[in-house]
Amino acid sequence: MHAEDSCFDASQWKQLLATFEGIRKTYEYLFLIPQGAERGMKRAVRNGFLREIVVVSGKGGVGKSSVTASLAVLLSRAGLKVATVDSDVDAPNLSIILGADLSDFKDVQASEKASIDSTKCDACGSCVSACKIDALIDGKGEPPTLVRFLCEGCGACALVCAKSAITIQRVRNGRIGIAKTIYGFPIVSGELEMGESSSGHIVTAVKARGRALAEDIGCELVLVDGPPGIGCPVIASVAGADYALAVTEPTPAAMNSLDRMLTVLSHFNIPTSIVMNRFDLNREYADKVEDHIRAKWAVGVAQRIPSDENVPISLSKRTPVVEYAPDCEASRSLLALSDLIKDMI
Ligand code: SF4
Ligand code: SF4
Repeated sequence: MHAEDSCFDASQWKQLLATFEGIRKTYEYLFLIPQGAERGMKRAVRNGFLREIVVVSGKGGVGKSSVTASLAVLLSRAGLKVATVDSDVDAPNLSIILGADLSDFKDVQASEKASIDSTKCDACGSCVSACKIDALIDGKGEPPTLVRFLCEGCGACALVCAKSAITIQRVRNGRIGIAKTIYGFPIVSGELEMGESSSGHIVTAVKARGRALAEDIGCELVLVDGPPGIGCPVIASVAGADYALAVTEPTPAAMNSLDRMLTVLSHFNIPTSIVMNRFDLNREYADKVEDHIRAKWAVGVAQRIPSDENVPISLSKRTPVVEYAPDCEASRSLLALSDLIKDMI
């Protein structure tokens, strides 16, 4: 297009472009870890219609699940077709906050354990010596006893058993339940069996079930409440996510764990927004956390949420705060956050 065909003159064009650049920079500052942003955006497009946002925190107790519950309610009310997934399988509580009672449980068999056929065993003791984590107790002339919670299913004992008395079998280590919330959207929630391992496998299973359900009912967004920390279940939770919300609070422990979490999210190139919950617990430290992440990660805090007595009261009533007290300060901040997310997806 020639300049003379345009309704703007050259200086107006320059001003307009500068405005767009300013908007782009603000957007990146609030939402994106630059190293991962571009690829993350492209992946979001490749994934098609269904978006997945995972809410994580470097440590527990910062309000991740209550933020997730309120966002699900607000985004659903805003017209998005939402499905929720609780992948904090060690301590699932999203269904509790949403007042939903899970049912239609299905077992997850993601662990393997040794199983001894005592009729074949001659009590030679070879398997006891082969097990390096002492999951087999010598039977002193009788078949050995398996300490089930210690066994990792590695199969070393089965390899050395000349009598073929040991087999490695899949065992139930968790379950997945489903409910429809009173807000109209579904929740899929995973639970690790007490004392079991392989929580990462259960996270993968619960996310797959949540995604399948979301696709079946034509959802646009899956909101995943992830586990705290940076271990295997967290990595399983963020795998395949289009965006992450990292929830933190103004304490030294939370800042340290936020750093660790951002290292993980940056490694996997997942665009991330940061939410500072209960920022007014220590405003000075909240500023310090923000300065730190700006300097180290070139990303700002997308939303600060104040302490609000309505939050614990709403939790005790199994109701997200945005439903219990829609006009309180915390609810207003959560509404602003949901508006930002809505614009982003
Ligand atoms: S190695 Fe096999 S036969 Fe020997 S004690 Fe173990 S189970 Fe029994
Ligand atoms: S499967 Fe591995 S961990 Fe389990 S009892 Fe056998 S050797 Fe030990």
